[in-house]
Amino acid sequence: MSASAESALAWIGLGGNLGEPRSAISNALDQLNKDSGIDVEAASSFYRTTPIGNTDQPDFINSVARLRTTYQPEALLGKLLAVEANLGRVRSEQQFGPRVVDLDLLLFDQVQMETARLTLPHPRMHLRRFVLEPLYELGGEMTLPGGRDLSACLEQVRDQSVVRDHSAESAG
Ligand code: ADP
Ligand code: MG
Repeated sequence: MSASAESALAWIGLGGNLGEPRSAISNALDQLNKDSGIDVEAASSFYRTTPIGNTDQPDFINSVARLRTTYQPEALLGKLLAVEANLGRVRSEQQFGPRVVDLDLLLFDQVQMETARLTLPHPRMHLRRFVLEPLYELGGEMTLPGGRDLSACLEQVRDQSVVRDHSAESAG
C-alpha cells in the first residue's frame, strides 16, 4: 500500500466451520494483504464457538483482523466478497458447495451508512460474542460509531459460549 495515500482503518470478521477454517482464514488474510490497497496490520487469535441448536455440525472458528486501506467502504467490501468467492466455496460433484469462509466488514473508521449492499457498522456485530471478543483482544476498549463502548456490548453477550483457542497461533 502506498504510504502517501490517504488511508482508513477497517476491522473485518472472518469465520467458517467447514473444511479447514483456520487455513481458510489465514489464506483469506494473505490474499487481502497482497492487494496493493490493503495492509493487514494485525489478526486476533482464533475463537471457537460450539453450535447451539443444530449441534450436528463442526464448531465455528472466528477471528478479527485490523486493516489499513486506501479503498472506499464499498470497494473494500467488494474485495472481501471476491476473496470469499475465491476461497470459500468447495467444488462438489454437482455444484458449488457451502462457504468455508465468511468475511464481514465490521467497522470502517467511524462511518455509519446503510445501502442495499453495505451496512456499517455491521448490523449484527454487537450481538455476537465471537466477533466482540476477538475485536476486544486486538483493539482493546473502543467507542463504536453511534457511541456505545465495546466493553458494554461484550457485557450483553457474556452468556454465549466462545472459547479462545490457545493451542494455535494467531490468524495472521
Ligand atoms: P452473513 O455474513 O450475515 O452470514 P452473507 O455473508 O451471506 O451473510 O451476506 C453477505 C451480504 O451482506 C453481502 O452480499 C453484502 O452485500 C451484505 N452486507 C451488508 N453489510 C455488510 C457488511 N458490513 N459486511 C459484509 N456484508 C455486508
Ligand atoms: Mg458475510
